[in-house]
Amino acid sequence: MTDFSILVVDDNPTNMKLVSDVLEFDGFRIQTARDAETAQEVIRASPPALILMDIALPGMDGLTLTRLLKADEKTSHIIIVALTAFAMKGDEELARNAGCDGYITKPINTRNLSVSIAKYLDESVGNG
Ligand SMILES: [Mg+2]
Repeated sequence: MTDFSILVVDDNPTNMKLVSDVLEFDGFRIQTARDAETAQEVIRASPPALILMDIALPGMDGLTLTRLLKADEKTSHIIIVALTAFAMKGDEELARNAGCDGYITKPINTRNLSVSIAKYLDESVGNG
């Protein structure tokens, strides 16, 4: 999994550090952005294989950014996994309707995070 770069978009510094540390420890290359606008710049400069996308962000929210990325042929292939604190049933559907490929609920289970991410990456490779 070491060749895959992951962009973590989260405005919460504690959560950002936790997620980045865990994924880096497991060998992923990590880029970070604290808001959707910064994420757009990072994606333009160096497109990641997968984005872990916080939904609630200052300014543009994560679902809006997801819709923009999935509507653009330059970025539509990037796997987007929503990261949200709302463990509400309807939120998975909202995330999927926006174009997210998957969904991970906070608080993050640090033991499972890298395995979950690897599965999403595998699925996309398997689908060609
Ligand atoms: Mg947030």
